[in-house]
Amino acid sequence: MTQREAADVVVIGAGAIGASAAHHLAAAGRRVVVLEALHGPAAGSTGRSFASIRGQWADELNIEMSWRSIRAFRDFPERHGVDVGYRPSGYLLLVSPELWDAQLRAVDLQRAHGVPVDVLSFDEARAITPFSAEGLGGTTWGPADGVVDPHLATSAYLDLARRDGAIVRFRHPVRSVDRHEDGSWTVTAGPTTVQCQHVVNAAGGWAGEVAALAGLDVPVVHSRRNVYSSAPGAVARPLPMTVDFTSGVYLRSEGPRLLFGGARPDEDDGYRTDVDWPWMEQLLELGARRFPWLVDVPLDRSGCWAGTYENTPDRHGILGADPSAPTWVNACGFSGHGVMQAPEIGRLVAEQVTTGAIESIDVDALRIERFAAASEHRSVELVF
Ligand SMILES: Cc1cc2nc3c(=O)[nH]c(=O)nc-3n(C[C@H](O)[C@H](O)[C@H](O)COP(=O)(O)OP(=O)(O)OC[C@H]3O[C@@H](n4cnc5c(N)ncnc54)[C@H](O)[C@@H]3O)c2cc1C
Repeated sequence: MTQREAADVVVIGAGAIGASAAHHLAAAGRRVVVLEALHGPAAGSTGRSFASIRGQWADELNIEMSWRSIRAFRDFPERHGVDVGYRPSGYLLLVSPELWDAQLRAVDLQRAHGVPVDVLSFDEARAITPFSAEGLGGTTWGPADGVVDPHLATSAYLDLARRDGAIVRFRHPVRSVDRHEDGSWTVTAGPTTVQCQHVVNAAGGWAGEVAALAGLDVPVVHSRRNVYSSAPGAVARPLPMTVDFTSGVYLRSEGPRLLFGGARPDEDDGYRTDVDWPWMEQLLELGARRFPWLVDVPLDRSGCWAGTYENTPDRHGILGADPSAPTWVNACGFSGHGVMQAPEIGRLVAEQVTTGAIESIDVDALRIERFAAASEHRSVELVF
């Protein structure tokens, strides 16, 4: 039997972004229903991420989105009484000579926004993570960067939302979305039909399919990323997130294991979560030039996994009201940095819904209109 409900806002997706949006909306007094296709929180990309967070970006918007979010993760225990696993284990960037001048300009910008960042000598950096400095321009270190627990953060946001009256329904795949003349919506998921004023599209890599149900075009595709794991105890001391710009290889410790990854340049778009074993061999070869000790690390295939980035054509997120349907709010396509920016994205979704606009920060670069305007899409990989 169909169950009919009414809400101010339906949030589609219970990953980090949908959960954060649900919390901020419910805290602002909105009646929220979260509809999630899978069995629980963070069961999409969020739970398969590398869980790394950094304020080291090269543009003001990403610096602000990340740095505000890092502080939100850091302050979670004090503000909400929950530890979401933020650990300032640091982020070491190994930068090529061609990019070094730009990196130094980025460091100035990061510092201007309050992000702690150090320029290290090769010896100082090698004391953190051993590497060969051949062909490198320099290194930077973000001591407040590190990791968060995406499962804990997502669950915590949903708990906070529920405390403020939100309803969270798992195993509720949204199958139809109808828009009415007054701008309101009817959303049907499983046995539940919800009438609401606003819909938040937080469906990650599925955001394009979800938008299509409403007749809207949101250019987001899945793109597989692999995480490879050593056997437990393979490295003598914990290594922080370390990214080699020259090879694209990144690695960090997780408990007793070493995890590593790197985007396969010729990866086809599409949803798949089987681990790419041939790419592991190639990645090890690439990585061993920078981290020669990597060849001796014993691997554990049972500890490896794959998930998908939710990529847009320019690898930046899509945030804000849809121009042809202002009560439809996109919060998707963050292309591999959705966990680290989820707190701020959720706050801005609530601002959009409650005030009708996002004005507390200039998010023009994230508006969906840019795709209609752009004749050529910039396509860059913003990994790590
Ligand atoms: C291997 C890997 C490493 C990564 N590393 C990092 C990292 O270090 N740092 C970082 O910040 N990010 C990282 N990311 C990216 C990060 O995981 C994503 O940016 C983030 O999880 C996006 O969150 P989301 O809530 O938008 O998407 P998701 O977590 O995918 O949530 C979307 C939800 O929508 C649900 N959904 C879809 N369709 C429907 C429907 N029709 N009805 C109802 N529900 C629906 C899905 O089931 C899913 O649970 C990584 C990703 C991968 C795969």
